[in-house]
Amino acid sequence: MPTSEPAVTNLADRETPEATAEAAMLIVFIGPPGAGKGTQSKRLLSYLGIPHLSTGELLREEKSQNTSLGRLAAQYMDYGRLVPDPLVLEMVGNRLNHPTYAKGCMFDGFPRTIQQAKSLDESLLQRGTPLTMALELRADENELIGRMLKRAAAEKRVDDNPQTIAQRMDVYKKQTAPLLDYYAQQGLLVTIDAMGSQDEVFNRITAAVDARR
Ligand code: ADP
Repeated sequence: MPTSEPAVTNLADRETPEATAEAAMLIVFIGPPGAGKGTQSKRLLSYLGIPHLSTGELLREEKSQNTSLGRLAAQYMDYGRLVPDPLVLEMVGNRLNHPTYAKGCMFDGFPRTIQQAKSLDESLLQRGTPLTMALELRADENELIGRMLKRAAAEKRVDDNPQTIAQRMDVYKKQTAPLLDYYAQQGLLVTIDAMGSQDEVFNRITAAVDARR
């Protein structure tokens, strides 16, 4: 799929100063592996001027620094299984206490289970900063698998091989997809069609976000 880097940069530069003046937003970004959460969240972050909290990235960092959490998490991540809730919740809790996240934040790859979602709701309730919306990226499964195999060649992620991809897809359907109903019931869910070019998808996302400001 063609990318258009100059358009990304220009758009972000133009939009950020105006966007940061707006009220803070707390967004949960949900989508199956390969849906483009990583790419789209980076663009959306600079559009909104809010910090990022990606549990996948944090866990990969722990792994590369060979911390005890990283070593433990690797036993799940490398096989496409979810890292147990208590470990993830402690890691996110420590992070959320930081003033950086006091007002706005984009949660990427978190929550991934109903228990994580409930725990996040409780922390945000205590802080008095409820979620603004849950953004779902939805795409055809065959397209997603094709994208991930391409990424595997480029980024060499241990978990981007056919077997682990199938496992991550299965975990998504069983453990994470129920969150869609959870957020729909709270009136927070917005589903974005993730098929098409990166620019097309980004335009759909910003339209949805702007409608909630
Ligand atoms: P994906 O491309 O599958 O969306 P991520 O980068 O979000 O990948 O996550 C990579 C791996 O890290 C997951 O397969 C899982 O093992 C672990 N992980 C990330 N976030 C969570 C979470 N919130 N709860 C449990 N495990 C997680």
